Amino acid sequence: MKKNFSLLFLLIISISLLGCSKTTTDPINKTIKVTPPPVVEPIKPVELAEPVGTASIPAFDKTAVMKASGKSVPVLMYHSIAYEKDNDIRLPVERFEEHMKYLKDNGYYPITLTDLYEYLMKDTPIPEKSIVLTFDDGYEDNYTAMFPVLKKYGFKATIFVITSNIDKDPKSMTSQQLLEMEKFGVDIESHTVNHEHLKELSKDKQLETLGQSKKDLEKILNKQINFLAYPYGEYNKSALEAAKEVGYTMAFSTDGRWSSKKNGMLSLDRVYIGSSHNMKVFIERITNPNYKFVN
Ligand SMILES: [Zn+2]
Repeated sequence: MKKNFSLLFLLIISISLLGCSKTTTDPINKTIKVTPPPVVEPIKPVELAEPVGTASIPAFDKTAVMKASGKSVPVLMYHSIAYEKDNDIRLPVERFEEHMKYLKDNGYYPITLTDLYEYLMKDTPIPEKSIVLTFDDGYEDNYTAMFPVLKKYGFKATIFVITSNIDKDPKSMTSQQLLEMEKFGVDIESHTVNHEHLKELSKDKQLETLGQSKKDLEKILNKQINFLAYPYGEYNKSALEAAKEVGYTMAFSTDGRWSSKKNGMLSLDRVYIGSSHNMKVFIERITNPNYKFVN
């Protein structure tokens, strides 16, 4: 009789404890186990107080809905984050922040280009609401205005820089600034040496600007450069071959659709974001995968 009473007592304790920890209990697993509650707290995942490298940017939330394989992903293309009247490629920082706040509030995950590559090539899972933020040309305001917003939201991004401007053009970022951003987890990749119209160049000249910009950045950043954005979104058959020959594994145009493997890994689309677009247009561009967005 006494034994039965103890068992009943344990059962009540166990059930009430399960009730308390409802939020951490897998809702699918409804089996109630009649075992005494553990005395020791379960081991929590390791949290580094001082994160290394890109760890200051939050990792994926494991509860996120994952994207089915083979789907397209919106890769947004920004340029300068500044105000200039009637200049569509310059987006004031207040409006840029509005975009980032929208992404945060609506559960988007800005992923890296490496994440995108792994997803497209190997089906490595990414969250359903993955998005890629890219910035072309390497404007200094990417460091002074955009970078603080990125840090505030803990977002990942890629900047495609024109390498001949580094440490030379006062409106472009210095190698020191690039290094600092890279350390935080902002990916720096190639946008050629001189922002050439690739279609107007011979194959040799294409090889030169694509290869040299890659080497320049590898020297400055001490990492391998894998990705490229074609200036003006322009490329031709020999530019595709040249990009492949010098070792790029993924390259982007500006054709206005979400990025999909079926467009070819060296001719992926991006979605343009300009200052003439209001918030409604921005939202449409990040929610509609089947539309070609003309600048
Ligand atoms: Zn450009």
